[in-house]
Amino acid sequence: MTLNEKLLNDILTGQLMKFYKSKEWKQLRLEAMKRANYECEHCKRMGKVTTRNTINKYGRKTKMDVNHIKPVRLYPHLALDLDNLEYLCVDCHNKADGKDQMLKKHEPKFMNEERW
Ligand SMILES: [Zn+2]
Repeated sequence: MTLNEKLLNDILTGQLMKFYKSKEWKQLRLEAMKRANYECEHCKRMGKVTTRNTINKYGRKTKMDVNHIKPVRLYPHLALDLDNLEYLCVDCHNKADGKDQMLKKHEPKFMNEERW
């Protein structure tokens, strides 16, 4: 999937909603979900299976989403890179977002690829 100029421009100008509504993203998102076998990839690494049908402690089904490992804002050119995507349950997604917040606080100009 290639990132066309229009989408890249949407990201660079902070119009991420436009990007998330694009057919390119929706299609790639499905691919990421399929690749993950519809299971949370972080939970899976810990030997747990979490899908959208997993009932959480509140008795509700789990919310799932596709996450950019490297944040779109910092790595716009990786926005449509399947290798930069992971399918996560809401708990793991929040933890992953917490990681982004830390990144933002430190405002690194360059990041080591191997850091995580
Ligand atoms: Zn999870």
